[in-house]
Amino acid sequence: MTTISASQEHTAVEAVPTQLFIAGEWRDASGGATLGVEDPSTGETLVEVADATPADAGAALDACCAVQAEWAAHPPRERGEILRRAWEKVTARADELALIMTLEMGKPLPESKAEITYAAEFFRWFAEEAVRIEGRFATAPNGQGRLITMRQPVGPCYAITPWNFPMAMGTRKIGPAVAAGCTMVIKPAQQTPLSMLALAQILEESGLPAGVLNVLTSSSSSEVSKPIIGDPRLRKLTFTGSTEVGRKLVEQSAAGLLRTSMELGGNAPFIVFADADVDAAVEGAVIAKMRNMGEACTAANRFHVAEGVQEEFASKLAAKLGEMKVGRGTEDGVKVGPMIDATQRAKVDELVRDATAKGAEAVVGGSIREGAGYFYEPTVLAGVGDDARMLREEIFGPVAPVIGFADEQAAVAAANDTEYGLVAYVYTADLKRAFRVIEGLETGMVGLNQGLVSNPAAPFGGVKASGFGREGGKEGIGEYLETKYVAMAL
Ligand code: NAP
Repeated sequence: MTTISASQEHTAVEAVPTQLFIAGEWRDASGGATLGVEDPSTGETLVEVADATPADAGAALDACCAVQAEWAAHPPRERGEILRRAWEKVTARADELALIMTLEMGKPLPESKAEITYAAEFFRWFAEEAVRIEGRFATAPNGQGRLITMRQPVGPCYAITPWNFPMAMGTRKIGPAVAAGCTMVIKPAQQTPLSMLALAQILEESGLPAGVLNVLTSSSSSEVSKPIIGDPRLRKLTFTGSTEVGRKLVEQSAAGLLRTSMELGGNAPFIVFADADVDAAVEGAVIAKMRNMGEACTAANRFHVAEGVQEEFASKLAAKLGEMKVGRGTEDGVKVGPMIDATQRAKVDELVRDATAKGAEAVVGGSIREGAGYFYEPTVLAGVGDDARMLREEIFGPVAPVIGFADEQAAVAAANDTEYGLVAYVYTADLKRAFRVIEGLETGMVGLNQGLVSNPAAPFGGVKASGFGREGGKEGIGEYLETKYVAMAL
């Protein structure tokens, strides 16, 4: 990879639509307001996009409702083929889309490219699932009648996505909705609207009928969301974001008794037993911690390491993190981009100050990197006390606290000592122990001897305060289907 020039950046941004996408048309926000999109590595504005109002939100839901019945009746094979064509187009344009993502979100270009591939795979996976929506037929136990079970689209959906994976968090919802025959309004995070707008254009070019997908970019998420969530025509709310906002949205959706999927925050434990291959665990830790600069719901938040190998693990991890190049994501060799904004960076720093005030020591890093952009040094902390806030709160930054444990029971208890339950990572060479520990972990996913779990063919999701519902895998399409049972007299 070579460093990208300013004119390449400019051309990529210029190519992205900046208007709302409603009923198959690109249009300005009613009232004409716009919202600036910032490059977090410089703090400069890249471009302005339409800033939707509640009136635009109403128009987007109207568009969904107008075509819902027609779309539900559309042949599943054709719904799948639209997704398949979109997968091809996204894949063909991966370099350009990755550049747009890096500019608006900050992650290094190779990571953006990996997200584009991951995001597109949801379209390929659900293109294949569209034609495998099945029901059941059975004889009633008393032999008198027949029981038919059919699966039908839920209906109009509203999707809200976060800034940390600007495209994959969208395709993971759009893919199954389109495959199932649901229409959707999607609202990307205000900090990263460009990836979603570029994606909507690709879906349009792939033949998605007008109104099936509608995109609202807005600086007032609550104001545009409330009328949609409160509209009796909406049937489902699917949200990826923080637990705090997820709780509010579940409350709002209670009035309409909406189907909801909540992909919320995490606080992943990364457990290393003394019998593990420590070097492999360090490799896995780098991925689990540093992917997306630690701004991932699946990011390892706490490293619980057997006391015998704790120091070795911490010093090897510190060596790896210390050599990672920090900088603008478009520069050659950069492994760690900026935090999304000043607030997020200040929160990471606050958690580090809290831990060090309570006795932790930085083995590497531990500070804000001064200058333009919102950079934070990759950090490993040793001697982190039980009372450190970062053990309870989602760090969402490149900071790895290492804590020792005495035995297996203590490791599992410490891992589960959190309100969250998205993912855990376990490193051990002992298969029996692996299964004992996995069964005892209160999480929706486990990485066994690997630091990455995301896979479009697998059910992604959490338990406890990490939410409910699953995205991807065979389960993913079920979130967009209702079951109808027919009692048939003979
Ligand atoms: P966030 O603040 O909860 O925002 C997520 C989305 O919700 C954004 O589009 C945001 O819009 C919108 N939003 C915020 N307040 C809202 C409200 N009152 N009504 C309607 N929409 C509202 O989360 P974030 O900071 O963007 O993302 C980071 C969080 O997402 C972390 O906690 C992370 O763990 C979680 N996450 C979870 C998963 C998963 O699959 N479990 C995956 C990725 C991220 P604005 O942009 O306008 O604020």
